[in-house]
Amino acid sequence: MTENLKSVITYQHKIKCPICQTQLDDNGFILECPTQHEPTLLTTNYSTKQFKPDEHSPGIFRYRSWLPIIRNLTSRAGGTVTYQSQKLNQRLGLPNLWIAFNGYWSEKGATLESATFKDLEAYAVLSRIPDKHDGILVVPSAGNTAAAFAHVCSQNQVPCLIIIPQSGLGKMQFSQPLDPYVKVVSLTGFTDYYDAIALANRVSQLNGFFIEGGVKNVGRRDGIGTTLLNAVEQIGQLPDYYFQAIGSGAGGIAVHEAAKRLVADGQFGQKLPRLMLSQNFPFVPIYNSWHSKRRELVSIDSQIGKKQIQQIVADVLSNRQPPYSVKGGVFDVLTESQGDMLIANNLQTIRAIELFKETEGVHIEPAAGVALATLHKAVTDEQIDRTAIILLHITGGRWHQDQLNQRFIPVEPSLCLDEQALFAPETLEKVIGLFGSTIKSC
Ligand SMILES: [Zn+2]
Repeated sequence: MTENLKSVITYQHKIKCPICQTQLDDNGFILECPTQHEPTLLTTNYSTKQFKPDEHSPGIFRYRSWLPIIRNLTSRAGGTVTYQSQKLNQRLGLPNLWIAFNGYWSEKGATLESATFKDLEAYAVLSRIPDKHDGILVVPSAGNTAAAFAHVCSQNQVPCLIIIPQSGLGKMQFSQPLDPYVKVVSLTGFTDYYDAIALANRVSQLNGFFIEGGVKNVGRRDGIGTTLLNAVEQIGQLPDYYFQAIGSGAGGIAVHEAAKRLVADGQFGQKLPRLMLSQNFPFVPIYNSWHSKRRELVSIDSQIGKKQIQQIVADVLSNRQPPYSVKGGVFDVLTESQGDMLIANNLQTIRAIELFKETEGVHIEPAAGVALATLHKAVTDEQIDRTAIILLHITGGRWHQDQLNQRFIPVEPSLCLDEQALFAPETLEKVIGLFGSTIKSC
């Protein structure tokens, strides 16, 4: 680590605590403020204050001056594609609707392998890990995040341990086999995403492993933030409204943080976009918390929560512990942006997916359907002005023909653990053993 700390001085960013205002040199791993005070999300403070896309860098790295980059990745990165759809705009009666598309649609230039914004997170998080680190990145995930990190770590030969419930394995299919640097542990039996998180936390305490950090990782948030940067570059100004479906809310927080940088720049307007974030009824804890007008997240009964999650079509929006109350979290960004929480039920979501298919010819995932359904409702209910500039974040979309043209290889987990094996004394040894033969630095 000493070597890493020596080299941080030249980075174009520092890590800032919004509570005690401490500025820290980034060693690539900081997730929390070292000073004792109430929890908060650390932010990135870039030396470049003006929005300046780098025309020579592809995909997400076009926005490298506002990404916490410590190393250059070797693979070619994809990015967001922002465009206007004449057909969809006509159907909705919204002349100034723009779509920020994070998916796989080669005709449009969208080439995110996981077909979701999770690729953006993975690119940004990995480029924040110092070149000469000697640890293994640990990523617990329900599905899409695992797919994105597995793919990008594989491309760049970054050692990585993915822990995923068996139900998420269907997302782990790639056009090429994974590099041996990437190991996948699958949880079977009565296990879920929270067991994956618990195991990841235990493993990351071991020597040689470190946790990715989720929403606490500034790389993740600034990676998703490039969605807004791409949109503003296309539109020429900040949108009035931003629509996205949320599970944890990291996307909403990230876009708000990027919007604040753009407002400070001054070229794109002075008003922060109103965040119109959404969830899939009946699992709507953030919606319920926001409309009860309080900072605390409503308590979610574990059994009721699990049942509600089973009922929603947008299963990726099922986070039971979202960063809602934390300083700089969902409550704060909704308040600062004068935003709102909206909901769509399954039927409305399915109709929205069909509407997108009819107008664009692209199949979108249910989470994107939730966002579109709530936009449709907000327009019908006259909650928003039809002439407003609206940005709709469509994450999780794949043009059907692209899917047919690609041959996907399903991932074979390196280790499967059921609920009993999860806590067995030898489990951690088995996890360590996965890396012993393939990674010299371990
Ligand atoms: Zn602090």
